[in-house]
Amino acid sequence: MDTVRRLTMTGRTHDLRLICTITAVLGRAVLGRAASRPGGFGNERLRNFRPFWETKRLHEMNAREWESLCDGCGLCCLIRFEDEETSEVIPTRVSCQLLDQITCRCKDYANRKATVPDCIKLDPYNIDKLPWMPRSCAYRRLHEGKDLPAWHPLRTGDPESPHAAGVTVRGQTISEAVLAEPEDALDFIAFDLLADRSEG
Ligand code: SF4
Ligand code: SF4
Repeated sequence: MDTVRRLTMTGRTHDLRLICTITAVLGRAVLGRAASRPGGFGNERLRNFRPFWETKRLHEMNAREWESLCDGCGLCCLIRFEDEETSEVIPTRVSCQLLDQITCRCKDYANRKATVPDCIKLDPYNIDKLPWMPRSCAYRRLHEGKDLPAWHPLRTGDPESPHAAGVTVRGQTISEAVLAEPEDALDFIAFDLLADRSEG
């Protein structure tokens, strides 16, 4: 490999994700109360309730729904290289300088482009052009016709559940900020990061 290109990726604004998680929890509570009222939802209606990620395609989701899909795993904020001759993607456990290694969230999402201009924003129309996105990523999974994993915050109502399931990169990375040269990331190649973490 003599020519490489750095790839980084994001699809998230975590404030919106948290709002949607709370909304999902409240939604379940409201549904539960409604079901217990005379004339409220019956068990049949509850059984038929389907969340937005099962009924909408990615491009049909509103901004809040879209952002809520990000589980905060941090896998897409690791440095990758691409062999320009073979297109092979080389994963490393070096994280973007703006990734908080404990929360696995971007430390300056709103202004990240000023520091990391090659950070790409994920949208419904470029997901199919990014085959290196993690297999456990909700955007990739839904794009491939799969469901959300059991540990996803939209299912659990708990933003910590991906960490508890061992899906995130918490405690598994070093920051590019400590490298002398960007290419030093090649000393931390980690093909295990290509494994599908969907099962936790
Ligand atoms: S890989 Fe993880 S952090 Fe990145 S967009 Fe997908 S779910 Fe969010
Ligand atoms: S700038 Fe933020 S969102 Fe983009 S790759 Fe870095 S940590 Fe992730």
